[in-house]
Amino acid sequence: MPLVTTKEMFKKAYHGGYAIGAFNVNNMEIIQGIADAAIEEHAPLILQVSKGARAYAKHVYLMKLIEAAIEDAEQNAGFALPVAVHLDHGDSFELCKSCIDGGFTSVMIDASSKSFEDNIALSKQVVDYAHDHGVVVEAELGTLAGVEDEVKVKSEDSSYTRPEDVEEFVTRTGVDSLAIAIGTSHGAYKFTAAQCTRDERGILVPPPLRFDILEEVAKRLPEFPIVLHGASSVPQEFVKIINENGGKMPDAIGIPEEQLRKAAKMAVCKINIDSDLRVAMTASIRQHFNDHPEHFDPRQYLGDGRTAIKKMVQHKIVDVLGCNNKA
Ligand SMILES: [Zn+2]
Repeated sequence: MPLVTTKEMFKKAYHGGYAIGAFNVNNMEIIQGIADAAIEEHAPLILQVSKGARAYAKHVYLMKLIEAAIEDAEQNAGFALPVAVHLDHGDSFELCKSCIDGGFTSVMIDASSKSFEDNIALSKQVVDYAHDHGVVVEAELGTLAGVEDEVKVKSEDSSYTRPEDVEEFVTRTGVDSLAIAIGTSHGAYKFTAAQCTRDERGILVPPPLRFDILEEVAKRLPEFPIVLHGASSVPQEFVKIINENGGKMPDAIGIPEEQLRKAAKMAVCKINIDSDLRVAMTASIRQHFNDHPEHFDPRQYLGDGRTAIKKMVQHKIVDVLGCNNKA
C-alpha cells in the first residue's frame, strides 16, 4: 500500500469515536517499534517528522525507513498498513514545500505565534500549494506552552484557542485539520508543581483539559478533525525507571490518559505522541546498561528500546486512542 493522506483516516475516526496516533520518528528502531505495534493491532498510523528530526536523520533516510515499514507489513504480516507521513510544526512555506515535494502526504504549518491575519495568510499559502499536490494541511490556533525541538513557549506566553475564531480561520485558509490549545503542553515537563495539586500518593495531578473549549469548537466546526499536540502522558513507571537507573527527571509529568481517551471520543481525530516514545526508550536503555554493564553491542540495548516502544504504542492504540482494528 502506498502512503495515504489523513483524509479517510480522520473521517472514520470522527464518526467512530476514536483518534489516530501521530508518533514522532527519528531513527530505525523507533519506526520499527511503532510500525510493529500498528501491524499487530491493525491500526492506521501517522508517522510525523519534525524539522529537528529531518535535520538529524535526513529526509531520505526517514522516507525510505517508512517505506520499508509498509513493505515489511505487506510481506511478513500480509497487512496493508495505512501510513500517512506528516511534517510536525512546519515553520515556513519553504519547509512545507520541501516536504510536499519530497513525498510527505500531510504537513503542519504552525504560524500560531503570529497574528491572526498573518497565521491565515501563511496557512492559506501552504494549503494552496499542498492541495495542488494532493497533500493535506494541519494548522494551529492558540498557543501551547512547553518545549519541543525548536518550538519553545513559556507558560505566560501560551493561550487557549478562542472558539469564536475557528470558523473564520478554517473557512479562509481551507485547512484540513486544526490543532487547538485546551491545556496540553509540549515536552516531558508539562506543568510546574505550582500549577498542579497532589494526589494521596503525593504524585502531581495537572489541571484538567478545557473540554468546554473543545466542545464549543466542535459545535462551530461540525465533522471537522481536531488535533491535540503535547499529548504525551509521561508514564510515571518510565520516569521511575529512569530516575532509579542514573537518570534525572524530577517532576516530569504529562496529560492523564483518561482525559485523552475522552478527547478521542469527541472531535479529536489526531493525538500527537513524542515524549512518551523518548521516555520509554530511555528508561529501557538505562535499565539495560544497569543490568548488563558488560554489554557493548548496540543491538542489545537498542533492541530493548525498540521493544519498549512497541509495548507502549500498543497500549496507546488500544487503551487511549481506541484505533485498534480500524485499519
Ligand atoms: Zn506539537
